[in-house]
Amino acid sequence: MASDQSWKEKYLQELESADNREKQWKAERNTLERMLVRTSLASEGQTPELDRLLVRIRKDLRKSRVDVDAWKELQDQIDRQVALLDEHQASGDKKRSFFSRKEREPEPKNGQEPIPKPETASEADNTPGNDQDIEDNAQRLRIARRVGQLLGQMLAQVSLEPVAEARARALQQSLLASNDWDELREGLNHVAELVIAAVTRSKREFEAFLKRLDERLEILREHFSAQSSAQSGRLDASENLDREIREEIERVGLHLEASDNLEDLKNSVSRHLASIGQAVGRFRTQESERERVLSEQLEAMHEKVAAMEAHSEQMQEQVRKERLRAMTDLLTELPNREAWQERLAFEYNRWQRYSHPLTVGVLDIDLFKRVNDSYGHKAGDRVLQLVAREFRERLRTTDFVARFGGEEFVVLFPETGPADARTVVDKLREHVSKLPFHFRGEPVTVTFSAGLAGFVPGDTEESVFDRADRALYQAKGAGRDRVITSAEEAP
Ligand code: GH3
Ligand code: MG
Ligand code: MG
Repeated sequence: MASDQSWKEKYLQELESADNREKQWKAERNTLERMLVRTSLASEGQTPELDRLLVRIRKDLRKSRVDVDAWKELQDQIDRQVALLDEHQASGDKKRSFFSRKEREPEPKNGQEPIPKPETASEADNTPGNDQDIEDNAQRLRIARRVGQLLGQMLAQVSLEPVAEARARALQQSLLASNDWDELREGLNHVAELVIAAVTRSKREFEAFLKRLDERLEILREHFSAQSSAQSGRLDASENLDREIREEIERVGLHLEASDNLEDLKNSVSRHLASIGQAVGRFRTQESERERVLSEQLEAMHEKVAAMEAHSEQMQEQVRKERLRAMTDLLTELPNREAWQERLAFEYNRWQRYSHPLTVGVLDIDLFKRVNDSYGHKAGDRVLQLVAREFRERLRTTDFVARFGGEEFVVLFPETGPADARTVVDKLREHVSKLPFHFRGEPVTVTFSAGLAGFVPGDTEESVFDRADRALYQAKGAGRDRVITSAEEAP
């Protein structure tokens, strides 16, 4: 009984131990399978044949059961492929095997290729079969491809001269496609040269740009300077602007000389341009304000001038009227003695210049005192007015008649000799003598006597007048109501 019990316990212990072993074995197998899958994945990319075999391994592993015979065969095939791989590497055909692997890597999307670590390709030797060497080459190739991409980006942003552009394009193709390391290394050197050339050209162009900018700013400064000198009011603002621009340009120049960093120069010039822009902006604001004030002042001045012109016209009109009044006899409205003197001087000058005939007449109402005495002073005034009206209306407009004083009148006959003047005055005398004056119901006859004298060489205004006046008194002495022409020679 005891032995049965003992056997049973032993059996149960063995059973439990077998269970535990199976569990452990299953766990180990599971781990191994997963490791195998991962290893097969990691091993992919060597050759297409090997990849196909590795896919088969993973497929079989996913089955619950494994066909041992099939796996043996699979293992043989894999061994052959690995041997082949080793042979390739040993025969120095590492590049091909390596590149065939690379070529099957997924293509970069929109240039987003997995970026290699920024390590430079080492100058490791190319000893065949060296794993480190394979890794170095892979690294170099990734760098070359990356440089090719960067070169493409650079070409898109930097403008090169046509020859350099074509060379850069060819270089880029080579970097992206070539598998020849020597060619790639040479290409990388060329890229370095190209970048240096592009930066140098860019700097040269930038310097030329700055020079042109400087010249334009100088022209601008001179323009403002010239404008400022033209208007004293603008002098201060313009000088300030001039100084500010000049200082900014000098600062740009100093930066240009001191710096060889293109980016730094660009930033510096941008800053100075912004400063100049602000200075010009301030100047413009001040200018527009000054112009506004000036235009207001101008407008006010225009208004003032217009008002002054209107006032001046009024004044001139007033002066003209007053002058006319000053030159006119109030009673008869004929020109007065002042007007006579002025006109006589004018015609005398003309006669001196052109020597055209010119005659002076002096007319005096006969026995006028008697009219006054008989009919009153007002009646005398009325006679003066009526006779004056006849004189004005009957003489030619080119003739000039004035009241000299009292009942005495003077006439200037331009372009007329004494004989013709005598005819005119005689007709006038006859006409006046026939005017039907009536005072207190009585008809009254009014006559005048006249003396004429023509200008002769050597005459003055006074001498001619004197001769005419003497002729008048001859007419008075000869019985009145007559016209006598002076027979006297010029003095
Ligand atoms: P004679 O023929 O010699 O010239 O004689 P007369 O009377 O015209 O000359 P006289 O010199 O002796 O008298 C002129 C008069 O004319 C004197 C003056 O009272 C008058 N008289 C002068 N001026 C005016 C005036 O404006 N109005 C009036 N009503 N009479 C005036
Ligand atoms: Mg008289
Ligand atoms: Mg008189």
